Amino acid sequence: MTFQVYHSLPFGITRIDTAMVHEELAACYLMEEAGECAIIETGTHNTVPIILALLDEKGIDRGAVKYVIPTHVHLDHAGGVGGLMQALPQATLLIHPRGARHMIDPSKLKAGATAVYGEEQFAEVYGDVIPVDEGRVRIMEDGDSVMLAQRELVFYDTPGHARHHFCVHDPASKGIFTGDTFGLSYPSLVTENGPFTLPTTTPVQFDPEPLKHSIRRLLALKPERMFLTHYGMLEDPQEPGERLLGMVDDYVTLAEQAAPGEAAGLLERLESALQEYLFGRARDHGVTLSKDELQAALGFDINLNSQGLKVWLQQRQP
Ligand SMILES: [Zn+2]
Repeated sequence: MTFQVYHSLPFGITRIDTAMVHEELAACYLMEEAGECAIIETGTHNTVPIILALLDEKGIDRGAVKYVIPTHVHLDHAGGVGGLMQALPQATLLIHPRGARHMIDPSKLKAGATAVYGEEQFAEVYGDVIPVDEGRVRIMEDGDSVMLAQRELVFYDTPGHARHHFCVHDPASKGIFTGDTFGLSYPSLVTENGPFTLPTTTPVQFDPEPLKHSIRRLLALKPERMFLTHYGMLEDPQEPGERLLGMVDDYVTLAEQAAPGEAAGLLERLESALQEYLFGRARDHGVTLSKDELQAALGFDINLNSQGLKVWLQQRQP
């Protein structure tokens, strides 16, 4: 299927490409229900005009957007929050208890992302991060819910990728907006065996046991589909979920095997181990892309995930 910036899904949901780095890397979602709207995930600050253009295209009044809902405060998910909140006068920001202060004062987020990506790439990929007025922030604890017209959205604390991560259960679609908890699954890697899903261990809070617990918790809700930020709607998630749980264990084994030796070369060892592992798993899954094409599809994540595994190994040391 040809690439679409805006892709209509069932259940009043539109998938929006955030235009981060390359097409089909990161998505956010517009949910419409009886005249009320929510934006789930925001992309980066550079995504804000793309979201606003969709509202204009659909003739949606900016005052109809009731909620802005980033699953966690990593900037591919929450970087656009400040800009969106400025443009959407009636919106309330719904956020994990551990994420709220970073939305009100994003200076630490900016510094953290700059440390991971470098200043030049930060400017290019993320643009900026704008603070949100504290009075417009509502903290969502585990089990809390809100109504979008008559449609209930329920929030689940899902640590493991990050401690400031929640997922949003939408019983109307029998779906869950999973952020990064249910890993990554790119359209270019779907085969007759289904989606190829892999864990994401972005720095600096990856923690395998809580992550597996969170994935199991999502699966226990018996969802029929997941809405992934990276990338799009995934149907029948039970089997991909089981595979994902196994891959979290494999990541841990692989990281532990790469750990001994010179600290200076650790990142490179993790990257090459992860590349070999993921390319092998992709082949087993029936992906026929060339090595270069696989590198183009997964290279960005292999680098980020290796950085995250390195931080996890180092934090674990006594
Ligand atoms: Zn992400």
